Amino acid sequence: MDVKIFDSVPDGFLDLPPNELHKILPGPSLIRCRGKESRPLFLATLLHGNETTGLRAIQKLLKKRLAENRDLDRDVEIFVGNVEAAKTNVRRFPDQPDYNRIWNGGNLPEHRLAAQVLAYLKKSGIFASIDIHNTSGKNPHYSCVNRLEARFINLARLFSQTLVYFTRPKGVLSIAMAEICPSVTIESGQPGDPYGDQHVFEFLEKCLGLKSIPDQVEAREDLYVYHTMVRIHVPENARIGFDENFEGRDFSFIPNLDSRNFAELPEDSLLGWRFNPELKLSVMDEDDRDVESDYIEYQDREIRLKRPAVPSMFSTNEQIVHQDCLGYLMERYALPG
Ligand SMILES: [Zn+2]
Repeated sequence: MDVKIFDSVPDGFLDLPPNELHKILPGPSLIRCRGKESRPLFLATLLHGNETTGLRAIQKLLKKRLAENRDLDRDVEIFVGNVEAAKTNVRRFPDQPDYNRIWNGGNLPEHRLAAQVLAYLKKSGIFASIDIHNTSGKNPHYSCVNRLEARFINLARLFSQTLVYFTRPKGVLSIAMAEICPSVTIESGQPGDPYGDQHVFEFLEKCLGLKSIPDQVEAREDLYVYHTMVRIHVPENARIGFDENFEGRDFSFIPNLDSRNFAELPEDSLLGWRFNPELKLSVMDEDDRDVESDYIEYQDREIRLKRPAVPSMFSTNEQIVHQDCLGYLMERYALPG
């Protein structure tokens, strides 16, 4: 599996919907769009095949510049990830690794592909890196950074004043890109929302117009920074649902679990019910230790929080919960200084 490299925008790229990109892109592809300045802005999209906002915003940006006959301020290098999964609008296929977990080495063809892409980008003198995602549950728009350096924070807050700082899992693209240039991941709400397309488009316009990224953080009181403490997984074959119905289920979670994302939940908050006492949730900290007993308490059937926390990425999509995780627990983080 080799990355396909395009030196210019292939015909059809500006108009094809995500599920038809495979007609022009044979697989994961790098596409260079020429601008006035040669140091490229790097944009990644469709690492998850069902997360379509990034592609739509990029198409809108390029089409607008073309229509106005205005050059891009600088080169843009686009990585289109899981073209195959996008074809059927899924995050990934069961036999594929998660394309946002392959950037830290490994033995699969996808790991070699990722290494190839990174080697190429290292040579390109990338100016800044933006990986565009959607969330499967309801979340506010937010930016993620893996380093609390001023240029990373300043790039991130052009999209949202809500920032999530995390350093695990190690295999995400933005951590690998942080070795090369200021790097962020943006989470632009659920796919298919026109507001998300517009907001990401406006953010990309701002990034494209940057001559440099300031290395001082101003007005830090306006920032909401959260730090990911743990991620919660359900056991592999657990039967789960999202209402109080327990028939044939191992776990149920509260309806609209995702509406709690970014809310400050007090200790003892109800997350759901466990109907199979043989099973337990796994709660992994950033060092991959299971710290379930620090965070979760089973009171009869009820699953409750043992300490205050701020959830993020809680999803009510069963397939995503199994493929990725139920969600994360965070805490508010004070920026040093
Ligand atoms: Zn994603």
